[in-house]
Amino acid sequence: MVKVIVAGAGIMGLSTAYHLKQTIPEIDVVVYAKDFSPNLTSDGAAGLWEPYIPGETPIELVSKWSQSTYDYVLDKIRSDPDSGNYGLMTCLGYNCSTNSDMQLPYWSSIPLDYHLLNEHDVGKRFPSWIKSAASFTSVFIEGTKYLPYLTKKFIELGGQLYQREIYSLNEFNGECDVLVNCTGLGSKKLLKDDELYAVRGHILKVKANSIKEFLIVVEATGPEMCTYVLPNQDYIILGGTKQLNNYDLTPNNEDREFILRTTSSIYPCLKSAEILEEWVGLRPCRKSMRVEKENFVVKSSTGSENILKVVHNYGHGGSGLTVHWGCALETVKLVQEFLTEVEIKE
Ligand SMILES: Cc1cc2nc3c(=O)[nH]c(=O)nc-3n(C[C@H](O)[C@H](O)[C@H](O)COP(=O)(O)OP(=O)(O)OC[C@H]3O[C@@H](n4cnc5c(N)ncnc54)[C@H](O)[C@@H]3O)c2cc1C
Repeated sequence: MVKVIVAGAGIMGLSTAYHLKQTIPEIDVVVYAKDFSPNLTSDGAAGLWEPYIPGETPIELVSKWSQSTYDYVLDKIRSDPDSGNYGLMTCLGYNCSTNSDMQLPYWSSIPLDYHLLNEHDVGKRFPSWIKSAASFTSVFIEGTKYLPYLTKKFIELGGQLYQREIYSLNEFNGECDVLVNCTGLGSKKLLKDDELYAVRGHILKVKANSIKEFLIVVEATGPEMCTYVLPNQDYIILGGTKQLNNYDLTPNNEDREFILRTTSSIYPCLKSAEILEEWVGLRPCRKSMRVEKENFVVKSSTGSENILKVVHNYGHGGSGLTVHWGCALETVKLVQEFLTEVEIKE
């Protein structure tokens, strides 16, 4: 039986594994990961659909993958009465700017009703340091609810998952027909990929039941700092930081004070909001998101060399949830191309 191994059980690994079993049910698909939900970067992310820190990934690709994901999630919300239970919801909100001439982003045609606000409405709605704003309907994909759903669907289709730390791709020599690498920031060590780096994100989860909209200030609001307010179903997420090559996972007072000061200047109710949890995560940023095939040379213990067919799907920066479904579709297509080569040889 044809066997495909997926390394990694975050949003990229699970969506790819699930879509592989959906598309080619007859193959054996096994997921190996060091850690699983709820302890992953994909769990801590707020899950807002909006392309964010995509590096130099060509905008046609970010647009294509973001569009597929937006359409897929919106369709689920419209067609599946249970979709809220696995973390999907629509939400109206704002992108705000500290400059008066906010430009339309390249992805503005993807979400529903993206439009710039007039000066009067901006002045009435926001504090004076916000100079322009746009509004649109986005979708949320909450990792802590969505990853268990993907896992369940994958297992129902016959997929298997095992805990395993991978130290080298050589381990897969002769073990599978194709390896799909979805190890996120783990690829830095695993592949010695110097183009991959962490962008540290510190967030607060607070109780603030009156906030029902999302808001992001699109520019940096301090050195390596950003400002956003993102509602999830059970709390509001306040951010944040975007500190390059900073691997410190401990929340600190300076960041916390900055987050509370900036977000409560927009929503005064946040001044007294109860902090439920604090979390620091590392965005797996890369010069360009890596979704591509590689004929990887593996060495056996006797020194002989073989080719391991690898499809990479990692390095999605601050946009993993935003592009996940589009990237899963692309990755499965690349796996199919490799499997066709295997068939031709046989
Ligand atoms: C503060 C913060 C907020 C964010 N908010 C958003 C948002 O609102 N919207 C959005 O789209 N994105 C957001 N992101 C980005 C998003 O979280 C990431 O892009 C996404 O989670 C990456 O998914 P992944 O599956 O590649 O990685 P991960 O979730 O990190 O999963 C990687 C998997 O690989 C496994 N692995 C790694 N190395 C090995 C190894 N050597 N052996 C075996 N297994 C291994 C891990 O155990 C894990 O299972 C945010 C990120 C942060 C930090």
